[in-house]
This record gives sequence, C-alpha cells and structure tokens, in this order.
Amino acid sequence: MAVRTEHQIGAWVENPGPDARVVIRDDLPIPSPSAEEVLIKLDCTGVCHSDLYSITGKTPMKVNIAGHEGIGHIIKGRSQRGLRIYPTSKWLYTVNVTDLTVVAGSNVSQDLIGKRVGIKWLYKYCDDCEICSKDVTYCPNQKNPGRNVLGTFQQYICSMAKPLTFIPDGISSELAAPLLCAGITIYSAILKLRLKPGEWLLLPGAGGGLGHLGVQIAHALGLKVIAVDSGESKRKLCLELGATRFLDFKVDDVDKTVKELTNGYGVHGAVCLAGNKAGYAQAIAQLRNTGVLVCVGLAMEELPISPFMMIVRGISVFGSSVGTEQEMKSLLEMASEGKIKAIVDVFDFQELGEVLEKLRINGISGRAVVKLPI
Ligand SMILES: [Zn+2]
Ligand SMILES: [Zn+2]
Repeated sequence: MAVRTEHQIGAWVENPGPDARVVIRDDLPIPSPSAEEVLIKLDCTGVCHSDLYSITGKTPMKVNIAGHEGIGHIIKGRSQRGLRIYPTSKWLYTVNVTDLTVVAGSNVSQDLIGKRVGIKWLYKYCDDCEICSKDVTYCPNQKNPGRNVLGTFQQYICSMAKPLTFIPDGISSELAAPLLCAGITIYSAILKLRLKPGEWLLLPGAGGGLGHLGVQIAHALGLKVIAVDSGESKRKLCLELGATRFLDFKVDDVDKTVKELTNGYGVHGAVCLAGNKAGYAQAIAQLRNTGVLVCVGLAMEELPISPFMMIVRGISVFGSSVGTEQEMKSLLEMASEGKIKAIVDVFDFQELGEVLEKLRINGISGRAVVKLPI
C-alpha cells in the first residue's frame, strides 16, 4: 500500500539557460489548488522540442519545471501533513479522507474527480482582453507550463477547473499526450490555410513529431499532401500515413516535381515545420499565386520573401501556435475514432535526461513520452 508524503518527484531545471542542469528530485512540494482549481496526478507527459528551447534559454523560462503535454487524473485533494493515496487500479486512487486538510477546489464540482484530463501549453488565458475576444490562443496575459507556471515534468499539477481538456475513452494516455501540443499545433495550422478537399498542401518537415500527425490530419481532411523530408524511413512513414507524394529534399528536384503535380501553378498552401530559413524558402517557392503559408517551425531568421513578391503573387503569411479548445476537442475525437495516431516512444521518468539529449541531436522519430512515477 503506497503512502505518499507531501513531497513529490519532478525534474527540476537548475539555472534555465545555456548552463542548465535537469535534476530529478523527490523533495518537491505538491502544489496546493485554489478554490477554483483541481489537483491532477499526472500519468505521463510528452517531451516537446520547445521544452529543450526553454531549458537551454533559447526561449524564456521563468520557472524551474518544464513540460506542457501532460495527461493525468483529477484527484480529490492533498493533506497539509501528507497525501495518502492508495492506487487500487491503474486509474483509480483512493485518498485517506481523514488525513485531508485541503480538498481540491472547494468551488469545483466533485463530479470531476477521477476524470482524465490534459495539460497543454495554453494553460490559462484571461478571457477579458481585446485579444481574447478575437482569439484566446494569443492572449498576452496567458500562462504556459514551463514558461511562467510549473510544467508537467512532475507528478502533480494544479489546473483551473474551467476550461479543462477531457481525454475521450478509446485513446491511451501515451497516445493522447503528443496531441496536446504537437497535434493541436499542426491541426490548427492546417485549418488556418482554409483549404478545400482535393487542394494541395506542402509540408516541409513532414517526417517529424508534428509532421507525421500533419500528414494524417491533412489526409483525413481530404487534402493532397506533398510531404518533404529526407531519408528512406521518412519516405516510407509519410506514404504509409497518407501522403500523396514524398519528396526527399536532398535527392529529388522539389521545384520541378511540385510544378508537375500542380499543373504548373504550385501548391495552394504550405505549413512550414522546418525551423530554418531553407525550409521557409522552399515552402514559399512552391506556393502558387494566391497561396497561403502558415509558419510553425521556430526559425529565428527573417522570412525569405520581399513585400514586393508578396504583393505581386498575392501571398498570405500567418503565424500559428497551438489552437482553440474546440480544435483540441475535435482532434481528440479524430484520434479516438482511429483517424490519426501519434507514433510515440515511451520512456521512464529517470530517462528524461537521455530523451532531452536525443531531442537535441534530432534523434527521436515521432514523439517522446515519459511516464511519471506512480
Ligand atoms: Zn510543445
Ligand atoms: Zn486575454
């Protein structure tokens, strides 16, 4: 019978920045939920490339725990002196009520206890500003796990009771985790193109964590996908997942083939997942006049197109990060119906350091998911 103290295990980032160290600690406090919050015991978390960016200081990190693709169950509460949890099955926890001095979310419906939910990058938005009235995903007051609130590389996390991302039955926690960042990001980006079934989509970086989901999503939406990446394994993967054509940018003549496939015009839209200038240059070059580019890959250089060329060719460019609650819901439904499936490598929590190193050298195909200690 497991008895937990008020401490929990988590991956603590010392000195976020170029000299960061990630230390697995077992002395971290279990967070205390406010009246409007629930306490979640995490089962697993995806590891995103942007976690590495935060940890190493390429993007700002004001807290010491990264991670923003967490799946777990809402539990009843914790004790000031110690939370006693008795796992009776994989999903069900019994809490010794006599020990409780804090009940999660006194203003929260008790019906939520036991529900499986996800923690994603858009953790909280103000719902009160001019940007929120247009699109909450760009709220300037937003909270993001691993940026300005503690992330999912820990056993317990609090979340506002509304909105919550409920995970449907029919999809495992390990397969759902990558949808909370990689999945929703590429799904929303593809929707922003506003393409019609039968139109051409170019996906530079199609064989990676976001790309392999993007190929499946686009295929499910009836788009014709030109997947661009390199290597035989990525070719095989993209074609299996529904790409109409795979082009190896190191071997194939991308310009010539795209023109041939599209009656000489180019693609209707492109989502650039490659985080470098070459990927963006290629995406722009393959767009037809009136084409749309959505930027997702975190390149730090300027876009390789002049205002003049945008004017002459009628090119539109959007930036996109994450997606709305409604988009998240429909993506999870698509996954639970088996229309899309993330390819995941599952690791133990102690292996998190190795996972981050593999990510750094692009040594992970699909998505890495780490199990939190029980
Ligand atoms: Zn992410
Ligand atoms: Zn706002």
